[in-house]
Amino acid sequence: VTEPDKNQLKYYLLRQKQFAEQQNELKELAAFPAVTTDGHQVAIAANIGVVEDVGGALESGSDGIGLYRTEFLYIGREDLPDEREQFEAYKAVAQKLNGKPVIIRTLDIGGDKEIESFAHPEEANPFLGWRGIRISLSKPNVFKTQLRAILRASAFGNILVMYPMISGVEEVRQANNILVAAKTELRAEGQPFDDNLKVGVMIEVPSAAVTADIIAPAADFFSIGTNDLCQYTLAVDRINEKISDLYQPLHPAILRLIKNVIDVSHQHGKKTTICGELAGDPAATLILLGLGLDEFSMSSSSIPQIKKIIRSVSMQKAREVAERALAMQTPRQTSEYAVDVLRDLGVIGV
Ligand code: PEP
Ligand code: MG
Repeated sequence: VTEPDKNQLKYYLLRQKQFAEQQNELKELAAFPAVTTDGHQVAIAANIGVVEDVGGALESGSDGIGLYRTEFLYIGREDLPDEREQFEAYKAVAQKLNGKPVIIRTLDIGGDKEIESFAHPEEANPFLGWRGIRISLSKPNVFKTQLRAILRASAFGNILVMYPMISGVEEVRQANNILVAAKTELRAEGQPFDDNLKVGVMIEVPSAAVTADIIAPAADFFSIGTNDLCQYTLAVDRINEKISDLYQPLHPAILRLIKNVIDVSHQHGKKTTICGELAGDPAATLILLGLGLDEFSMSSSSIPQIKKIIRSVSMQKAREVAERALAMQTPRQTSEYAVDVLRDLGVIGV
């Protein structure tokens, strides 16, 4: 509104004041845990790309880093980052977190992200092509260098590692073999590292979600990447604006897959995180909580409002919401229902 009249000005000044109050209220929540009214606590972690993101994550009240996207160390340069450079970056993040967990995801390029130091083939379907763990397994020395750096940094903080774009258990076993080789080398060199480094598998390819029971014994935890899981399950390119209305993370197919992964992880005594955008979407919070999700990892800016929602509800209510959501037939019904519940709880304004 370029030349607001008196009433418009009054209206927007009021909105501005309300927004500032809301932000302040949310900021105060940073120090509180994400615990339901009946005492069920979940972890709220932050997604980061570079060391500089850690400050914002901690200020927002994050319980750790649920996704450290390491590709930024590799992008925009002609050479590969060596072990020392990576070690310094991972160590810096771990030290800043001061004992809180940091989940480092191994290199996840391909698809729409290329790096100059690798010759990427011309691919008709890059998102179905050479990307994520597939690249790492085809370049074992590059992968081992990254794993060595992560292992060495694990001596300085609470580090976990996870593999992206896993489609079946064989890839996990191959990656774990390279991890064992990296450990053997470091041990022989007398370098300290956490021998119990926990290994997570990203569940973002539908085949991995469906075979989570087969993958579980090879992993310590699951982290669901709903951005890619949605793209592959619904056959909707996540960056194609023309079909963005079909990109529906609350689609019953996605919710069923998420439920399966969480249930399977719990049957195996393991935990599941979500680190895709859905974890920071208020319309999904109660459903994911009710399905038994153990950790939500999101952009730092979303943390206070998700905490507010979790702190306003009982686990029993969240379970009811999840059960009803799972019985719905369309994503629209599900999100309308979820928003109604938030309105009833009085947290719709956030
Ligand atoms: C995801 O796919 O949900 C995810 C977290 O990974 P990225 O967005 O980096 O592909
Ligand atoms: Mg992904």
